[in-house]
Amino acid sequence: GDEALIALDTIADRASGLLVPNMRLGVTGLSRAGKTVFITALVHNLIHGGRLPLFEPVHSKRLARAYLEPQPDDGVPRFGYESHVRDLVEKRDWPDSTRAISELRLTVEYEAASGWGRLLSGGKLHIDIVDYPGEWLLDLPLLGKSYREFSDDALELARTGSRAGLAAEYLELAGSVDPDADADEPLAERLADTYKAYLQACRNESLALSTLPPGRFLMPGDLDGSPALTFAPLPAEPDSARPGSMLAMMERRYDSYKTLVVKPFFRHHVTRLDRQIVLIDAMHAMNAGPEAVRDLERALADIMLCFRPGSGSLLTGLWKRTIDRVLVAATKADHLHHEDHPKMEAIVRRLVQGAIDRAGVTGAQVETLALAAVRATREATVKEGSDRLPVIVGTPVEGERIDGVTFDGETETAVFPGDLPGNPEEIFRESDLAENHRFVRFRPPRLETGDNGATLSLPHIRLDKALQFLIGDRFA
Ligand code: GDP
Repeated sequence: GDEALIALDTIADRASGLLVPNMRLGVTGLSRAGKTVFITALVHNLIHGGRLPLFEPVHSKRLARAYLEPQPDDGVPRFGYESHVRDLVEKRDWPDSTRAISELRLTVEYEAASGWGRLLSGGKLHIDIVDYPGEWLLDLPLLGKSYREFSDDALELARTGSRAGLAAEYLELAGSVDPDADADEPLAERLADTYKAYLQACRNESLALSTLPPGRFLMPGDLDGSPALTFAPLPAEPDSARPGSMLAMMERRYDSYKTLVVKPFFRHHVTRLDRQIVLIDAMHAMNAGPEAVRDLERALADIMLCFRPGSGSLLTGLWKRTIDRVLVAATKADHLHHEDHPKMEAIVRRLVQGAIDRAGVTGAQVETLALAAVRATREATVKEGSDRLPVIVGTPVEGERIDGVTFDGETETAVFPGDLPGNPEEIFRESDLAENHRFVRFRPPRLETGDNGATLSLPHIRLDKALQFLIGDRFA
């Protein structure tokens, strides 16, 4: 009777659902690189008919409509698109940043370019966007390291450069611990907390360091306070741990971290991706100086390694899909005048090349770009004597100070953004770059009129170029 019909319907639904191709697009980057803003702007522009002339399906007017649907993975938090749009568009505030993994399914209906395309896909594509902290990718090298190796590497790093000062308290505490003494939970907590405080300090504004594993120490997700996150490196003492000792406890927790946290994350998420975008805030690192830039390069190398399915990878055998395209994009290009965009892209290319050289060849096609997912500024020129200086104009967020003036969040101002070096190698050298470059946080902009002249969407810089590289080929 009816039940049978319903069952048949469901089967038919499932079957037709299976025919709609899906692609899993990973969006990552270190904290505050711009993941949340990127995903929100991308989805908003596709749903609301934004200006995307460099995205071929839009350019050729084949994109019929885009809308959100329930995501396929019930166990993963949903990306908070609606509340982020409310912040960005209605309040003109930046939304809360990524703290853990989340997912969103965007369905796009289009007119296939070829008869084959129509037949195979029905002109529909599910894009499952997966947002996750880049910090978590930096854990991959841990899979190949014992607790001893992890400790040696972590402590050596803690003693180098400007890290040494920040790690002093930790190094002293760790040096005072007897690894052979009985396991002591409060002490383990103190070690972990002090170690986290050191990692956190490395991350602060003026230092802006990037390579700070274990990734969950800075971005714990829902595991904060669990034993798998309550460990820290200890100096080499006994070769083997006595059962019940401090060292045995640390080893066990480190192993738990790998098996309960790192491996499942890679297995359930990273190895199922088809495409990946890595966002970097290159200007933030450049403002902090060459040590931060080198550190960003090293982090990027560790990140690129994660997308290499080939032999020699710690993930061999885990891959369910193959990431065949990786886009590394410098965000917040609206903080620069467009005359400086080619220099910014040269810098990203240099960073990525350095990373690829370190990580070895990747199987994927790697592209670089400078973009602004949300363009908060416009450009103008200011006359200074006989010179015409390129400036950017925007509304600084409330409380920003420029030349002694505190802004109220309502007033527009012109800012001379400073010059980037023409030779990318200069970012690795000590220079007056930081003084040259003025970094102001602007409020999100008002909406602009979209391609069809009717709808309103978020202005951006080269978001469409990013889209074309990441998914454009799937609309054949
Ligand atoms: P996440 O930690 O990677 O999720 O970073 P967010 O997306 O939250 O971005 C962090 C901050 O960077 C935001 O609060 C903004 O201040 C700034 N930001 C991100 N994307 C843009 C952009 O496209 N333009 C401008 N002007 N600022 C941006």
